[in-house]
Amino acid sequence: MRIVFIGPPGAGKGTQSVHLADELGVLRLSTGEVLREAREAGEPLGVEAGRFLDQGDLVPDGLVVPLVAERLERTDCSHGYLFDGFPRTIDQARELDRLFALRGMSLDLAVEFVIPEDELFRRLSKRGRSDDSEETIRQRLRVYAALTRPLAEYYQQRHMLAQIDAVGPQEVVFARLQRAITLQKSRSNTTEWGAS
Ligand code: AMP
Repeated sequence: MRIVFIGPPGAGKGTQSVHLADELGVLRLSTGEVLREAREAGEPLGVEAGRFLDQGDLVPDGLVVPLVAERLERTDCSHGYLFDGFPRTIDQARELDRLFALRGMSLDLAVEFVIPEDELFRRLSKRGRSDDSEETIRQRLRVYAALTRPLAEYYQQRHMLAQIDAVGPQEVVFARLQRAITLQKSRSNTTEWGAS
């Protein structure tokens, strides 16, 4: 099963993706987490990505796409993948389609976390991550609206989109997520949801 999460910063994708990946037995990849870790470790990737992270801008595809390709290459994940934070642009979505196609695979589902902006500010101001300063938050929301949100339509056209209400207690949102997955499974040919 191959799933991507789309949603603005603060929508709860991180927490939900950890639980869902665990439940489905799939590999979770958060590009944001990998980039932050690379920076803390002083790796070249992290150093190059640093200023984009600080400014709330997207890290260039030239850094992010190879990172994803390398993970797909390195891991033997027969149960599938859950991407949290990738793709973030239409170009990245096309790149992911291509990377999967090279391996004879395709995406099963894109989940969009839907949440009002005032709720995001409330959550993010409590979180305290280094890129959670007010100006960075604003920029990340602008970037989301301009570049990432259009992905919903991209996946909608391919009948892969599930939109879930991301407001509410974690377990309630998780239950919505589970329902969306069950629904998509029943819509698609179940044989396509197998291993590989
Ligand atoms: P996240 O942890 O998903 O909120 O991502 C934090 C930051 O990492 C973003 O604001 C971007 O600067 C960078 N980032 C994460 N994923 C991507 C991606 N797919 N493309 C470009 N930049 C990314």
